Amino acid sequence: MRIDVVTLFPELVGGPLSTSIIGRAADSGLVEFRVHDLREHGRGRHRSVDDYPYGGGAGMVMRPEPLFAAVEPLRAEGAQVVLMDPAGERLTDSLARELSAVAHLALICGRYEGIDERVRTLVDREVSIGDYVVTGGELPALILIDAVVRLVPGVIQESSHEGDSFASGLLEHPQYTRPVSFRDLSVPPVLLSGNHGDVDRWRRRETLRRTLERRPDLLDAADLGDDDRSILEELRADPTDEIRR
Ligand code: SAM
Repeated sequence: MRIDVVTLFPELVGGPLSTSIIGRAADSGLVEFRVHDLREHGRGRHRSVDDYPYGGGAGMVMRPEPLFAAVEPLRAEGAQVVLMDPAGERLTDSLARELSAVAHLALICGRYEGIDERVRTLVDREVSIGDYVVTGGELPALILIDAVVRLVPGVIQESSHEGDSFASGLLEHPQYTRPVSFRDLSVPPVLLSGNHGDVDRWRRRETLRRTLERRPDLLDAADLGDDDRSILEELRADPTDEIRR
């Protein structure tokens, strides 16, 4: 997989792309990152890439020419072009999975008040990281990259992300590690029992409990079996149910 990032702040993205799991994915050749400094396509001595908005108003707008100059060659190479934008489709687990199968992505990071509208004719899709505005597209692009690259086969073990929240449409169950007892808080005994069947049943129940408590909206679309439905009925009937088996 190759991911190009078009940005006015290459130094902002370099660190995260060379660190930890994402950095190792690049080192091992599973993904290649290329960061493009948009300033190289700017005008004049100051390499300016922005201008005042027609019609007036606060802030500056990114001019179309530098973005076209940076992105058109990437399109010609076959990249799927993604604009980071608050008006885009929301980044979700299923969108991350879809993008993880794309061989070549080019991400455009906006700045200032955003881009000249004509730049949208260059892009295949627009992606938002949520209903809030940050100062630039770099952090949204890094979030997208992290969510996508960890799903690329070989980057992490499939078993470690298949049980993650949202992968199955539900939230993940609680996790514990040593020590067994910390302050007055103990690990549920079932997790120490060595009985894998009991552990699996406990995890499923806690997955359903957590989803019911925090994101009941997810249950509508989740793939639930008859056992799940009866557990949910029990939990709804007795929300304080303290079965920890
Ligand atoms: N004036 C724009 C608006 O109201 O939609 C916001 C511009 S924002 C300050 C500058 C850039 O940050 C955007 O062009 C976009 O690339 C990025 N950005 C900000 N919030 C974002 C979000 N929630 N998702 C994706 N990108 C975002």
